[in-house]
Amino acid sequence: MDVGSQAMSFTALVLDQSDDGITAAVNELADDRLPEGNVTISVEWSSLNYKDGMILQGIGRLVRDYPHVPGIDMAGTVEESSDDRFQPGDRVALTGWRVGEIHWGGYASRARVNADWLVALPDNISTRQAMAIGTAGFTGMQALMALEGAGLEPGPQNPLLVTGASGGVGGSAVMWAGLAGHHVVASTGRPENGDDLLALGAAEIIDRAELADKPSRPMLAERWAGCIDPVGGETLAHVLAELAYGGSVAACGLAGGSGLDTTVIPFLLRGVSLLGIDSVMYPSPERHAVWSHISEVIDAPLLEALTSEVALEDVLDLAPAILAGQVKGRTVVRSGA
Ligand code: NDP
Repeated sequence: MDVGSQAMSFTALVLDQSDDGITAAVNELADDRLPEGNVTISVEWSSLNYKDGMILQGIGRLVRDYPHVPGIDMAGTVEESSDDRFQPGDRVALTGWRVGEIHWGGYASRARVNADWLVALPDNISTRQAMAIGTAGFTGMQALMALEGAGLEPGPQNPLLVTGASGGVGGSAVMWAGLAGHHVVASTGRPENGDDLLALGAAEIIDRAELADKPSRPMLAERWAGCIDPVGGETLAHVLAELAYGGSVAACGLAGGSGLDTTVIPFLLRGVSLLGIDSVMYPSPERHAVWSHISEVIDAPLLEALTSEVALEDVLDLAPAILAGQVKGRTVVRSGA
């Protein structure tokens, strides 16, 4: 059945460029404005990520062509498909592939995309939960799996540091790592979130100021068996100097800066590793493996505790806040639900 054939228009948050900068408005668009693609989706939920904040604010020249529909994540139900892998009625999610950036994204009630970018949702993950996870939660799990693949084992003898713990990637990483039994040390600049982070899975909370400065020596006392780091900058340089022998950092963000001023000494004398994490162009087979692992470990109440919900137009107000590190946890966006 073609469940969407009667729809003639869809609602979208549309960005445009003017002499004054980026303008944004929620508009009703005719179906013929949908871009090319072989799967049309009735989008129910999207989410707010750091990169969405950049795109909504016109930062970083991530979007080249306007008018543009942002939203780097989407989840919903297939309306039409000319690809054998997807049928009308299938529940799907899409993160990455530069959707919302160079392709129209999920801040709309309908989207047309390339089937290669889609993940069929496991039965136990709703479209809303998929977006509570979204790019940030996916990246948190990808980072954890990278560290475990590099030898990190759970246990109090192997403290796992998560920086930016009150944010989307960090909060998700605390949750996933806690569920896997790791001894999670959550670093945050917002101590008022400490109790929530303990409930989410952290064993200890530290003040991010402890990690904020460039290390005074190439190697400091060994503190961390592993680290999931969405902050970067001097925090990452500091963490590298505190990694225990053979430890690894999964570098997945730049909320605190994109520079990295460090030495090779910890790599040479402690055999530490710096693991790069990219969720955007991560190949499909590995991507499916991450979602499959998420479906095995997902804890619905914990995920809900991490999550807030907003209407489509509200993302505009939240864009500066997420770039300023003021948004807590994950935010799902009602695109069409
Ligand atoms: P959030 O804004 O939700 O979280 C970032 C957190 O970092 C903040 O909540 C804050 O945590 C901390 N922080 C912010 N500014 C600073 C600062 N100046 N110094 C130290 N800590 C700071 O963003 P996300 O979690 O969604 O994204 C985080 C980063 O990860 C971004 O750079 C984003 O681009 C990147 N990212 C990368 C992906 C990839 O594929 N590699 C995918 C997704 C995101 P607290 O208040 O607890 O200190």
